[in-house]
Amino acid sequence: QDREPQKSLFTDLFGIFQQQLGRLAMSGGQIDSVMQEDRQFPPSAEFQAQASIGSLAAYEKLYDESIQNPEKFWGDFAEKELHWFKPYDKVLDWQPPFAQWFVGGQTNISYNCLDKHLTTWRKNKAAIIWEGEPGEQRTITYSQLHREVCKFASALKGLGLNKGDVATIYMPMVPELAIAMLACARIGVVHSVVFGGFSAEAIADRNNDAKAKVVITADGGWRRGKLLPLKETVDVALDKSPTVEHCVVLKRAGNNPPMKSWRDRWWHDLVETASADCPAEPLDSEHPLFILYTSGSTGKPKGIRHTTAGYNLYVKKTFEWVFDHRDEDVYWCTADCGWVTGHSYIVYGPLAAGATTVMYEGAPNWPQEDRFWDIIERHRVTILYTAPTAIRAFIKWGDHHVDKHDLSSLRLLGSVGEGINPEAWMWYYNKIGGGRCPIVDTWWQTETGGIMMSPLPGAIATKPGSCTKPMPGIVPAILDENLHEVGKNQGGMLCISQPWPGMLRGLWGDDDRYVQQYWTKVPGKYLTGDNSRQDSDGYYWIMGRIDDVINVSGHRLSTIEVESALVSHPNVAEAAAVGRPDELKGQSVVVFVTLKSGEANDALKQAMKQHVRKEIGALAVPDDIRFTNSLPKTRSGKIMRRLLRDIAAGKESVQDTSTLEDYTVLAKIRGDEE
Ligand code: ATP
Ligand code: MG
Repeated sequence: QDREPQKSLFTDLFGIFQQQLGRLAMSGGQIDSVMQEDRQFPPSAEFQAQASIGSLAAYEKLYDESIQNPEKFWGDFAEKELHWFKPYDKVLDWQPPFAQWFVGGQTNISYNCLDKHLTTWRKNKAAIIWEGEPGEQRTITYSQLHREVCKFASALKGLGLNKGDVATIYMPMVPELAIAMLACARIGVVHSVVFGGFSAEAIADRNNDAKAKVVITADGGWRRGKLLPLKETVDVALDKSPTVEHCVVLKRAGNNPPMKSWRDRWWHDLVETASADCPAEPLDSEHPLFILYTSGSTGKPKGIRHTTAGYNLYVKKTFEWVFDHRDEDVYWCTADCGWVTGHSYIVYGPLAAGATTVMYEGAPNWPQEDRFWDIIERHRVTILYTAPTAIRAFIKWGDHHVDKHDLSSLRLLGSVGEGINPEAWMWYYNKIGGGRCPIVDTWWQTETGGIMMSPLPGAIATKPGSCTKPMPGIVPAILDENLHEVGKNQGGMLCISQPWPGMLRGLWGDDDRYVQQYWTKVPGKYLTGDNSRQDSDGYYWIMGRIDDVINVSGHRLSTIEVESALVSHPNVAEAAAVGRPDELKGQSVVVFVTLKSGEANDALKQAMKQHVRKEIGALAVPDDIRFTNSLPKTRSGKIMRRLLRDIAAGKESVQDTSTLEDYTVLAKIRGDEE
């Protein structure tokens, strides 16, 4: 029974039969879950005893309060934990799908991240510990950071920037990137951070979309030992960015880019004469804080608009809850500030909470594949927050890089960006966490501003591959295609039923698209674009993107489940599953895999098919397995299945590839086939 069925009249007929049966059974369009994952990891008694939310009952109490009276719940925190120049009149004004939080109030996130700490002992606490790729180190206290931010904010004012103007920030991961963000926020300038690896084209698009008035950049930055000439790239972009009047350039790499005297100014010249006295501007709660473009995994990136007070409160509270933050922590999020993770959990959340946040400029494999473990050992990092794509790379690079280092300072691990395959989760838990650190698998989006679902590590037992439970205030719903709520263990579209303080307020300059994209298919609920199921313990499992569902003989399969089955094969490093049109079955499963060991040959393909059959059943067995050296990913490290779908179908692609990390990957995968 374990053998691959031969193509025969029987299997053909059987396929048709299954397809018809499937159509009948699946008329609601739920997703079939085929994955079996029963392992559970409760927090240790020691971890629980020290945690601020240290029991399931404590989480449930908090959650219940947040649902019974959301306005009181968020209002109490806002009053106590944010500074108000002017008190708000109303916690929430909800005119679906437009929400306003803390209406009528005035605050400032730069004030809440900096000034608020200066009257406490945290004044001289390390706010940022930075390490450059070549090895430089800087520690910046809250008091120092405040001064730097004030000076740069004064400098921006000196250039004529006003409240409501837009600044594009295109910088390497250096402290001045955070300083630039906080300086903009301080004077009400809206920032739009563009990842420092994007092309001139992408910068120009974003400049024009937002009508940016200034671009803040650096001469260069370091990545894998190479100098990235950022200013040169900006110069090309500025030829096509008519709204940009100024360009501010930080000297980081010393590579002397050409400077145009009528437009370009050195950062150090500007701050030299700028006043350190720059009080935070009182800003309306709903004043726009930033624009940020999504990763472009499922299509052209969307320019998400976030505002001041609600976002501030939401990232502060979720940071404290999810990372169980304590003042003695050294917290390191390895994301780039070009993504929402960097905005919310390198800069705004940690600083609002008075944490010490580590920033690293470069690549994880420079000069060696152990750079992360070296950083953790030397800085005594206690909390590590990274992405599945990095974890899969570490596994591929080998345990010996980890074994060289003392990781005993770690007490908590986090994951974000994609679903984490259970076997990668187990490696992270055992190898990096030494079996003692809980893993918080955090599900959220650029749109949601902050974490939406995650274990609270002292309260909720974890399961590999599950983001477990919603944050306080978050009300998920899972619906089938007919908009009915599905039952336990059935997958469907993940929606959010109630507004929350960190939610996007719209797409930049395009309310229609905002309504269309998120609020139309399912009236009255926020449509996330992801599928999910809830298990019998009430845990949530993200099942991949709605667009990526694979429909085999009427059974709708989740990409992540098929991929996780492959990743649990000892030779597989990474897998991407897509559907290919199939006359008989509707779609068949095609997987692209990268290997960590073994020979890429037919015997291995057969072994993998057997493995999938054993793990999740015959239905999910790929028709086609293709070996490749790398998968197409976004710049933020997410697998771009939509591009693989075209390749699997043998189609020329006409899709948006502006956020693709490596253009040669597609050509190589196509080439492999010939
Ligand atoms: P685009 O919206 O342009 O297609 P994107 O959705 O990848 O790009 P982001 O906002 O950066 O842009 O990513 C959010 C998405 O990442 C989520 O919708 C989800 O699909 C995925 N994701 C993030 N964290 C997790 C997680 N912990 N588990 C599963 N999926 C996750
Ligand atoms: Mg998205």
